[in-house]
Amino acid sequence: LPNPLAPTGYDETPEMLAGEIVDWARHGLINIAGGCCGTTPAHIAAIAKALEGIAPRRPAQTDFSLRLSGLEPFNVNEQSLFVNVGERTNVTGSKAFARLILGGQFAEAVAVARAQVDAGAQVIDVNMDEAMLDSQAAMVKFLNLIASEPDIARVPVMVDSSKWEVIEAGLKCLQGKGIVNSISLKEGEAKFLEQARKVRRYGAAVIVMAFDEQGQADTRERKTSICKRSYDLLVKEGFPPGDIVFDPNVFAIATGIAEHDNYAVDFIEATRWIRANLPGAKVSGGISNVSFSFRGNDPVREAIHTVFLYHAIQAGLSMGIVNAGQLGVYEDIPRELRERVEDVVLNRRPDAGERLIEVAASVKGAAKESTQDLAWREKPVRERLAHAMVKGITDFIVADTEEARLASTRPLDVIEGPLMDGMNVVGDLFGAGKMFLPQVVKSARVMKQAVAHLLPFIEADKAQGGASTKGKIVIATVKGDVHDIGKNIVGVVLACNNYEVVDLGVMVATDKILAAAREHHADVIGLSGLITPSLEEMAHVAAEMERQGFTQPLLIGGATTSRAHTAIKIAPHYSGTTVYVPDASRAVGVVSSLTSSEQGPAYRAGIASDYAKVREQHSRKQGVQLVSLEAARTNRCRFADHTPTKPKQLGVQALADYDLAALVPFLDWAPFFQTWDLAGAYPAILDDPKVGETARQVFADGQAMLERIVAEKWLTANGVFGLFPANAVGDDVELYTDESRQTLRLIWHNLRQQQARPEGKPNYCLSDFVAPKASSVADYVGAFAVTAGIGIEEKLAEFAAQHDDYNAILLKALADRLAEAFAEHLHQRVRREFWGYATDEALSNKELIEEKYRGIRPAAGYPACPDHTEKGPLFTLLEAERHTGMVLTESFAMHPAASVSGYYLAHPEARYFAVTKIGRDQLEDYAKRKGMGMAEAERWLAPVL
Ligand code: SAH
Repeated sequence: LPNPLAPTGYDETPEMLAGEIVDWARHGLINIAGGCCGTTPAHIAAIAKALEGIAPRRPAQTDFSLRLSGLEPFNVNEQSLFVNVGERTNVTGSKAFARLILGGQFAEAVAVARAQVDAGAQVIDVNMDEAMLDSQAAMVKFLNLIASEPDIARVPVMVDSSKWEVIEAGLKCLQGKGIVNSISLKEGEAKFLEQARKVRRYGAAVIVMAFDEQGQADTRERKTSICKRSYDLLVKEGFPPGDIVFDPNVFAIATGIAEHDNYAVDFIEATRWIRANLPGAKVSGGISNVSFSFRGNDPVREAIHTVFLYHAIQAGLSMGIVNAGQLGVYEDIPRELRERVEDVVLNRRPDAGERLIEVAASVKGAAKESTQDLAWREKPVRERLAHAMVKGITDFIVADTEEARLASTRPLDVIEGPLMDGMNVVGDLFGAGKMFLPQVVKSARVMKQAVAHLLPFIEADKAQGGASTKGKIVIATVKGDVHDIGKNIVGVVLACNNYEVVDLGVMVATDKILAAAREHHADVIGLSGLITPSLEEMAHVAAEMERQGFTQPLLIGGATTSRAHTAIKIAPHYSGTTVYVPDASRAVGVVSSLTSSEQGPAYRAGIASDYAKVREQHSRKQGVQLVSLEAARTNRCRFADHTPTKPKQLGVQALADYDLAALVPFLDWAPFFQTWDLAGAYPAILDDPKVGETARQVFADGQAMLERIVAEKWLTANGVFGLFPANAVGDDVELYTDESRQTLRLIWHNLRQQQARPEGKPNYCLSDFVAPKASSVADYVGAFAVTAGIGIEEKLAEFAAQHDDYNAILLKALADRLAEAFAEHLHQRVRREFWGYATDEALSNKELIEEKYRGIRPAAGYPACPDHTEKGPLFTLLEAERHTGMVLTESFAMHPAASVSGYYLAHPEARYFAVTKIGRDQLEDYAKRKGMGMAEAERWLAPVL
């Protein structure tokens, strides 16, 4: 059912047009609907006459009212109520729809359109603007498909694209009257009018965006003046005013940026003005935009849409692009929420956004609560326990456990019966990839609380035999290292699977680990570590186990560990089995294989031969090709002249008890999800078909806790930074006490890339980004150390007392995020204020995360400067311990764990790189420069040797 005007151009006589149509009719066309504006009675008469000549299947209708049979007229006019336009058939607005279209699943995509109509959409918006797509072809295909679905085709289509060709291709497929979304004055009047003329010839109505040559209108004044100008142009051109629909731009509010606060009011007021001053014109808008800053919290978004629509419709909004199934009722929104939402929408108070965020998390929880089915409470206690375990619900666990205990012969039966049954289900789901870490940790919390309740009874019952577990494992973060989130998760997962876990905590010396293993008769020992010196420490533990005659399997895990490293550097020290565990989800499989009496021996032999192979391959591998230190230095990085900016303020400045709220906007959430083994980019992960639901849940929990951390000051953030006159001397950088550059304050030692580099690529060293002393150019470097972990122990102890690993891990992950955010925020302040080499930098958080700014902040232990010991002098330089409460362990890990430190380099070309391997010559040179013995230098630099 193509639009009869479409393929024939615009200037044909009714007879020429009729001829075309007869042609189509010969090819099987069975019905014709003409656009109502471009088609004249003369066209219809001519077409009818021509068709009668070719044996029509039914008499041609000459009715000009364009009603498909059986449909009620659908008018949008002064009398009509608000018209909702379904938004889900839009690849830019709906990930699910985009996936279907990109995957060529058009039948499923048609179902999305049907669902929108079923949910009450009176028009559907169709948009195929996706870079990976032939948008025009997709538009045509989709529109043709829905045209043959009576229950979808009964509603008009809004053809939505920023490309005119796509719109025009779409218009050609529409039966009846369509709506074009959109045209505007963006590219000037001529283009605007040309497109408007075409729209008119296709008989469509048009959405005109409040957009002109200067850009998109944001204020009420700009919105109304652009709409007025567009209106006058169109009406003068003869465009029917009733077919003009203005979109005065719905923008996101409550973004934290003051200029955005009035956006909703501007829209509503512009709407009111248009309806009062531009006769016949209608107003529409993309409603979901307004709540964009509450992505992930659907209940709050729905409330914002409802309140916004309530006021916009009163002001005269005719239609809106919405998720038709997701509109609430104004009166039904709880009073407090409605008031806070209304404060935001109507911009009634400056703190409106913050106040809405305050209640947002609880709304999310509450909304879920109300829909939560409590029917399971009616079931027998056994099933209730299993249900609570699988769903991670702690609310009734103590009462249910007690009930089960009273009904059992021995308290232990409760654990070995219903609790283990529940845990087994969790384990199976997790193993099958149907459940994710955050849920498992929540299930474990239920288990722990139940066990805690039973423990005193079990103690009293001991005479009758203790608990039977699958095995005992002693785990620890090694000496000198403080990171334990991953290890905690492994512990929880193992405990869920009925292993008894003895967690010795962080910074545990070898002797203590081995003594505990003996005392507890451990079946397995597990070591964890994050920083590279821990790798050496683990090798040391392995050697000690050998010396002291241990035979138990040794597990290795943590961020810098790897299978290759375990095979090459640790396993050779120990004749027992040493196994690398890549992440928490593997821990159970590895431990159960190791301890199983049937599979155990074969599994251990398999590991041994696998690791032997790794070692063999490694020894055969031609190591990295190295050049001499001298050659590397000759191939240093050189720059054209550059005049460094003198910092506005030199010397050291402490920032004690920094405002946590100021750090929140700088948070990078992606690593937060990684902590929970949820892979994906933020915010896309929230809509992920597989992990999205879990991600949203843990994100909501994280945000709710973050609010409490800030509001109740659970954590204290301390920082210190300094800016110093500095010059490069060889590979080192000298920091001076003052501008005279006579007195040394510190030498920052650096390593140079020594791997053979491709033609034209330098052998980088961080000192290359600092002006050489010999050049007499006055240059500068900065240093910083920040922490957000002060006070965390107290809160962690509270969670431990409540057997609440979930919240403990959540808190540690958030403290890490805040420390990184502090580093990001302080770096920005340094660039803009304290050093002031980028005073007008204005980057979004996303751009900051992508490091779009000038300058870098290399951190000791990272690839450009892999020597962790350089943190020692840096801490002395900044008096970091005194100013921040941060301390360095014997392996130069920072404590509290939620800490970041590094240097600032401002050179416009400064960049990160990796010193992967160095030669003996550089090792000797470096040791000498640092005044360090060779053996010691070798130990610290082992990872790059
Ligand atoms: N947005 C991240 C930021 C931390 S990772 C988060 O919140 O976790 C990026 C930081 O790691 C950099 O700012 C720098 O301090 C350090 N870094 C990354 N690569 C480096 C390299 N090659 N050499 C030295 N430091 C590096």
